[in-house]
Amino acid sequence: MLANRVKILADSKTLLMANKARALRADGVKVYDFTIGEPDYPTPDNIKQYAKKAIDNNITKYSSNEGSINLRKAIKDYIKHEFNLDYDLSEIIVSTGAKQSIFNAVLSIIDPGDEVIIPAPYYVSYPEIVSLAQGKQVIINTSEKNGYKIKPEDLEKAITSKTKLFILNNPCNPTGAAYTKSELMGLAEVLRNKNIFILSDEIYYKLVYDGLEFASFASLGEDIKKRTIIINGVSKTYSMTGWRIGFGAAEREIIQAMNKIQSHSTSGACSVSQEAAFEAYVGDQNEAIKMVKEFQNRRDYLYESMLAIRGITCQKALGAFYLFPDISYFFKYSYKGKPISNSDDFAEFLLDYAHVAVVPGGASGYDNCIRLSYATSIENIKSGAEKIFDALKYLSEK
Ligand code: PMP
Repeated sequence: MLANRVKILADSKTLLMANKARALRADGVKVYDFTIGEPDYPTPDNIKQYAKKAIDNNITKYSSNEGSINLRKAIKDYIKHEFNLDYDLSEIIVSTGAKQSIFNAVLSIIDPGDEVIIPAPYYVSYPEIVSLAQGKQVIINTSEKNGYKIKPEDLEKAITSKTKLFILNNPCNPTGAAYTKSELMGLAEVLRNKNIFILSDEIYYKLVYDGLEFASFASLGEDIKKRTIIINGVSKTYSMTGWRIGFGAAEREIIQAMNKIQSHSTSGACSVSQEAAFEAYVGDQNEAIKMVKEFQNRRDYLYESMLAIRGITCQKALGAFYLFPDISYFFKYSYKGKPISNSDDFAEFLLDYAHVAVVPGGASGYDNCIRLSYATSIENIKSGAEKIFDALKYLSEK
């Protein structure tokens, strides 16, 4: 009965684990949750107050499809300030979350059969959105040895005459991997003089650690900028996931196409949320800066805890709020008579035995790992890491 496009979509493993964790919690069990994909801080107060004022001032009607002029001006200035890039207002679209901008962009560019290059591990929605556009995913595998980053030669090899789009997520969900400017330059060199668009999902750009200097892909040259769609938004930087505001910035022709698609789906994003996002971009930045410092402390703690576990290897990722430890050493064991043979089995074991919820890497195209989010309290990280330690000791010694 249902359309084929639904049948080809994968079920969300993240949601599956979250549901199981919720069921345990409902039974009164304390769950150590490492699945969270959003900052655990409240939205900063100045932003909330600004939104309340917007409601009182009746900014509660339809916004223009492409986003309010005020917000787009703020985004234009923000992009200039943060990345030293110039965009016209007509080259910016505000969407209902960064995800909608990604969706608009892929649908604007991809015809059936066009190839889209996606490095794995990837954000779970990329391949599914490409499938909805009837594009063909071309996955480039990375490894822990390379810090889960692709090299120019990997990109070169994946390109064919049908390649239309390259999707890069920097910093990356689920690995936390973040590229240096010179690494990005290497990739840009491969794309130079080729007719390939780049979707650069930079939603985690502010969450980088150990002094890494983030570089936007569009800043790698005028020719590259012309073919790059920057995706960004307020969700992660300002702890505003529920407000649903993201944006895309690109050449006018692409933004016009994205606007066309958006105008026949959601239309303009929520007007109150747009006011809140305006304040996020132009207002006080202290809370956002404090959050990054705290994330770095938590990452350090979680990283050290993972290193202390025999059988686990882990990269000290420089971005986002995820670590992506390799747990494949444990695939030789079994639990309750069932072999642990992939990241799903491993995640189920952790939840059942230790009440620790994690996201299996298989959902991101990398089955040797699990994703641990440190967007959770340091107390949860400390107790949860101890639980993981004990659970894996039990598995190895039983
Ligand atoms: N891109 C990546 C890599 C993400 O992790 C997320 C959120 N999980 C999004 C885009 C979507 O962001 P938003 O909530 O603003 O739609």
